[in-house]
Amino acid sequence: MPEVSKIHENIAEWKIKRNALILAHSYQVEEVQEIADFVGDSLALSQKAASATQDVIVFCGVHFMAESAAILSPDKTILLPALDAGCPLADFATAQQVRDWREKYPNAAAVAYINSSAEVKAEVDICCTSSNALRVIESLANKEIIILPDGNLGHYIASHFPDRQFHLWPGHCITHHRIEPNEVKVVRERHPEAEILVHPECRPDVVAMADFVGSTAQILARVKCSPSQTFIIGTEMGVIPGLRKNHPDKTFYLLSSGLVCPNMKRTTLDKVFTSLLSMEHRITVPEPLRSRARHSLDRMLQVG
Ligand code: SF4
Repeated sequence: MPEVSKIHENIAEWKIKRNALILAHSYQVEEVQEIADFVGDSLALSQKAASATQDVIVFCGVHFMAESAAILSPDKTILLPALDAGCPLADFATAQQVRDWREKYPNAAAVAYINSSAEVKAEVDICCTSSNALRVIESLANKEIIILPDGNLGHYIASHFPDRQFHLWPGHCITHHRIEPNEVKVVRERHPEAEILVHPECRPDVVAMADFVGSTAQILARVKCSPSQTFIIGTEMGVIPGLRKNHPDKTFYLLSSGLVCPNMKRTTLDKVFTSLLSMEHRITVPEPLRSRARHSLDRMLQVG
């Protein structure tokens, strides 16, 4: 494998040759975030993918993210450098299961977390991310709402809307769900001065013990405006290097050593370069599935 500076050069050269935009999720490894044109969470990345002017988008993330980009920008070539980077949370829901739930709850609006397949997005009324989930629910007139596939995010949403009835899917993110309340207790005792920030994909009893709950972008924004000097971060470890770099005067600890998403770590610099060179792995969504899934994503993007 060529040395890192050579790979950087190769990526820069081929990015220009391909007229490509490199997008990276905040949970990617540090060196991949460094070569990206834009780093963000699911909402910011889907907004970037929708407005991109380049011919090619290299999506350093997991499959559903590249698939969402393909749904939003069908005229562009969407490349996923690590084809085996899936999302176990997205795998909790199939299109047939969503159809069954809709039949069971005919008056309910169906909201799919963006961490879902194109087939599932095509069956629901609207998508959401953890950044805009509360705004998405506010935009709906329905009293009854199905939230899928993340039961923990669903629980967090439901706690903000006591006047509505929610049907929560039995799915979870294996990374965030791993945090136990006891770990929060231990870390609180060890760092009583610290602010504990967690992602809503964490278990409800963990969320209840935190000082702040928000999406990855909201956690980063909270650190920026908080008067605290020490933070316990309850989301994937990929955000830590950026936090330390942007806030050298503040101290950060990871809430749990298990906060690693193995799928997010499958993308390497080498794979990004190979992807630009070989134009693989191309992610496409056939019609009419794409248009049906796009409707749910467009409704979400209108909410913002
Ligand atoms: Fe999926 Fe969780 Fe990994 Fe995000 S962190 S890609 S939700 S498994």
